[in-house]
Amino acid sequence: MVEANFLNMGLHVLTICYLIASVTFILGLKMLSHPESARRGNLVAAAGMAIGIFGTIFLFEHEVDGEKVHLGNIALIFLALAIGSVLGFVSAKKIQMTAMPEMVSLFNGMGGACAMLISLIEFNHYIHSANESVDGTTWLTQELTTVSVIAIIAGLVIGSISFGGSIIAWGKLRGIIKDTTFKGQRNLNMVLLFVLVAAIALFIFKTPVTDDSNPAAWGLTSFNLSLFYGILALSLMYGVLFVLPIGGADMPVVISLLNSFTGVAAASAGFMYNNQAMLTGGILVGAAGTLLTILMCKAMNRSLLNVIIGSWGGAAAAEGAASAEHGAYKEISLSDCAMVMSYANKVMIVPGYGLAVAQAQHTCHELEKILEEKGVEVKYAIHPVAGRMPGHMNVLLAEADVNYEKLLEMEQANDEFKTCDVVLILGANDVVNPAAKNDLASPIYGMPILEVEQAKNVIVNKRSMKPGYAGIENSLFYQPKTSMLFGDAKKVLQDLCAEIKTLG
Ligand code: NDP
Repeated sequence: MVEANFLNMGLHVLTICYLIASVTFILGLKMLSHPESARRGNLVAAAGMAIGIFGTIFLFEHEVDGEKVHLGNIALIFLALAIGSVLGFVSAKKIQMTAMPEMVSLFNGMGGACAMLISLIEFNHYIHSANESVDGTTWLTQELTTVSVIAIIAGLVIGSISFGGSIIAWGKLRGIIKDTTFKGQRNLNMVLLFVLVAAIALFIFKTPVTDDSNPAAWGLTSFNLSLFYGILALSLMYGVLFVLPIGGADMPVVISLLNSFTGVAAASAGFMYNNQAMLTGGILVGAAGTLLTILMCKAMNRSLLNVIIGSWGGAAAAEGAASAEHGAYKEISLSDCAMVMSYANKVMIVPGYGLAVAQAQHTCHELEKILEEKGVEVKYAIHPVAGRMPGHMNVLLAEADVNYEKLLEMEQANDEFKTCDVVLILGANDVVNPAAKNDLASPIYGMPILEVEQAKNVIVNKRSMKPGYAGIENSLFYQPKTSMLFGDAKKVLQDLCAEIKTLG
């Protein structure tokens, strides 16, 4: 009696742990939406996750032969936790900001793989709980409901697509996998998707679920088992093939989409285990990922379907680069640049991926302060897909303590460029490429850009005339009001600060 009460109390405490975890996920997510509170938000959500994990390890109980028991294999669980924590901590500490999207993709893939493995293990539990196997039919003893079948298959399919796709996205961002397109690829993907959906429908309708009135219907045939593993293979293949051709500027949307898939897969696993914290966490990741995907599509003026089947970049981008013909570009010296900027009324800085590569955010903030001391108004124009991850530029500039109020979103910035004497572009390329507006054949056509050419002068800092991520030429660099200031962003900014100081 005392023991039963004690067990019940454990269950209540576990429910409270899950409630705390769910609340911290929501609070953490809210705090992540502002650079000032983002770090704390991350810690709050991580603390909630730890409460959920340890609550499960010590308080969760399940029935074995009619008896309630706690989780076993505690030593193995702690060994896995220790390995995972060390790997996660070391890689997060060592990673360069510019390589962050790769890590996000890899971690996302691991989430998808977890959901996939959970579905595999759960399905195998049913098979192993079978009391006999005759004539190719496995007779189940454990209750299998339609809802469990749907949850298992949803976790398996979405998790595998997310795993396959994320690993390819990781390889592409790392540069070890190239955008791959071949004739008929789009049709092949469509056929694959169709076969996958048909196989899922068949599995759901043909898998016999527990029916007390007809115990004979409890058996899984070899057809059910083959279909299950066939769906696993098809999902993995679809994940790989759907991401393989996507390239150029579409990668951020795909990463965000895969992230939302992983959330939905985790929510399915939460449903399977009746685990509220896992369910809330999965739904939050799924919803946040979906919203981010929609916002990014909007920012690039493309529909999601177009991103998935359109396959930008790759071959098309290379053609664009080869066919572009431009006149000459003009260079500006450091001293002229210092002069133009110090005598300007208003300067807009456009940060891009190159600023992150050069780790020049602190020097950039210093330039801003020096110019402001001279009475120049300085603002920053932030493109939603500048850099290599959503919010990359905001995070980068927040790291250097740039006042958040100075960061203008694309629409605001586009309204203000005409009032600027100088636009200083630091390592940005695709996000200021006019081809997105006026070249129908360009692979980035339709993506809204920062319309910097409205300003009186445009100064572009980069190391060479090489293209950016989408692999295409930029006609902005050849326009009469544009001047190129070549060199590594950090070195150039340091020299520029020194030069402006000498102007008194
Ligand atoms: P781009 O990749 O278009 O261009 C960056 C430029 O920075 C390059 O042309 C490079 O030229 C220059 N550069 C590199 N290193 C340095 C350095 N040390 N100092 C100075 N310049 C340097 O960057 P944008 O930010 O304009 O655009 C982002 C692109 O990335 C978009 O196409 C976007 O779709 C894509 N993307 C965005 C993601 C996101 O979530 N934000 C994720 C994945 C892709 P050079 O070599 O001549 O110096």
